Amino acid sequence: MSDCCSGGVCSEKTYLTFRRQDGSPWIPMYVQEVDPAKCVGCGKCVAVCLGGCYELVEVEGEKKARVVNPGNCMGDCHCHKVCPVDGGAMTCRPVEIG
Ligand code: SF4
Ligand code: SF4
Repeated sequence: MSDCCSGGVCSEKTYLTFRRQDGSPWIPMYVQEVDPAKCVGCGKCVAVCLGGCYELVEVEGEKKARVVNPGNCMGDCHCHKVCPVDGGAMTCRPVEIG
């Protein structure tokens, strides 16, 4: 899990940030792409994503996730949290502001 998902600080940059009910900071992380070399095709990201951002496709006989609706992403990091690949097979980024 990234620092952003746990409410930490990404870097010196300023990112779009919200607050949880308890007042702790939360930086949404929006999905960019899936690395097919890392993805093991488990489908967990497809199952957990409320935005329908992913689909499973067959690539050279293997199931792989790919991002199909990135604009629907709410930045909640649910996909990243369930991905069994160490560090996540997907790339997610915060929105830089200022
Ligand atoms: S961050 Fe949430 S909305 Fe965005 S792709 Fe992952 S599960 Fe879907
Ligand atoms: S959860 Fe990770 S490994 Fe599983 S299909 Fe999605 S990107 Fe691939």
